[in-house]
Amino acid sequence: MAELANCSRCDAVFVKGMRDICQNCFKEEEAAFDTVYRFLRERKNREATLQEVVEATGVEQMLILKFVKQKRLRTSQFPKLAYPCTKCGEPIVQGELCEKCVKELKDDLKRFEKTRSVEQKDESNEPSRTYYLFDKS
Ligand SMILES: [Zn+2]
Ligand SMILES: [Zn+2]
Repeated sequence: MAELANCSRCDAVFVKGMRDICQNCFKEEEAAFDTVYRFLRERKNREATLQEVVEATGVEQMLILKFVKQKRLRTSQFPKLAYPCTKCGEPIVQGELCEKCVKELKDDLKRFEKTRSVEQKDESNEPSRTYYLFDKS
């Protein structure tokens, strides 16, 4: 059965499939990807920063970051497209911390909550919480 969804880019209603955007936007994104990739493929542009790519290609930053997250643009190949994690310096493309540091932070938080619930001695009232991390890309 076809499920309808709103395109996360233009809000158009479309039949939900593998993507979170409609066919039109998908085509636009593919064209944008081509533009960005063709720009970056040139040797002199390999070291271009995100800002430089945005200016040179006219493709919005969010979209370029999306390609990086989808690993279609690899930061190992184009190192300047990422910026360092504020904690460990790992290259990242969103937020302030890399996945590893985010996980550590969450583990710390969980440990903290556990300690607290033991202190309060009301573990039975504590609903068991599980955190699932879904990678949409
Ligand atoms: Zn759309
Ligand atoms: Zn980190």
